[in-house]
Amino acid sequence: MFTFMASKVRLFVDHPLGHAQSVPLTRDQAHYLFGVMRLGAGVGVSLINGADGEWDAEIVEAGKKSGVLLCQSQTKLLQIPPDVWLLFAPIRKERTAFIVEKATELGAARIIPIQTEYTNNADRLRVDKLRAHALEATEQCGGTYVPPVDDLAKLPKVLDGWDPARRIMFCDETMLGQASVLDVGLTGPWAIIIGPEGGFSEKERTRLHGMDCAHPVSLGPRILRADTAAVAALALWQNAMGDWG
Ligand code: SAH
Repeated sequence: MFTFMASKVRLFVDHPLGHAQSVPLTRDQAHYLFGVMRLGAGVGVSLINGADGEWDAEIVEAGKKSGVLLCQSQTKLLQIPPDVWLLFAPIRKERTAFIVEKATELGAARIIPIQTEYTNNADRLRVDKLRAHALEATEQCGGTYVPPVDDLAKLPKVLDGWDPARRIMFCDETMLGQASVLDVGLTGPWAIIIGPEGGFSEKERTRLHGMDCAHPVSLGPRILRADTAAVAALALWQNAMGDWG
């Protein structure tokens, strides 16, 4: 006999989760669960809130514009990713959204959009949209932690206040084809930095090369687009020092 087992809907809620905790739904969430996914009372849903892990919950009230879920048991503890931040210069809208989505899936702990000298699209950046992308990516990838997305910050300002204990994996396109110097043994907090389509300016490059905590790396013999570079760098870092092993 063929039985169809749909996987549970996973939903982020801005509400505490715990034993016998009831969770009211927003209008949009009620519309999604009952209108779009066609779920009704008695059905189980997976809930996350970025802080309390993952919980199985049952739909106890299903209305057109509202609803209530009841938490039953915890299915995952909160899993905080390794302490690696992604600093990147915003590019075109969909490609910036892609970077945030992939950084969330790949396990970045914090995402910081930076304005560099050759960053073009900074004035149109919608950080609220980027936060929503991080949230959706967490729902989709089975994660329990939503990386915060900072407001846009100017690179020199970020570097002025830099904690030297946090190493920087400086993805420098002028290192093209040279051996990557990412040393596997260097544990502790890290940040990856990716430039915009126009690359880093000489001034920025000189400044980063002058920082003891910065480790310039090559991402291979070809120039990658900024979105590809972000994904490649995170994958390399996670493989060398992260939680993939
Ligand atoms: N316009 C620049 C390339 C920018 S690519 C040029 O033609 O030189 C965008 C960003 O991706 C770069 O600033 C760098 O951070 C990263 N990147 C792309 N390819 C890379 C590579 N092979 N090695 C290291 N970083 C790279």
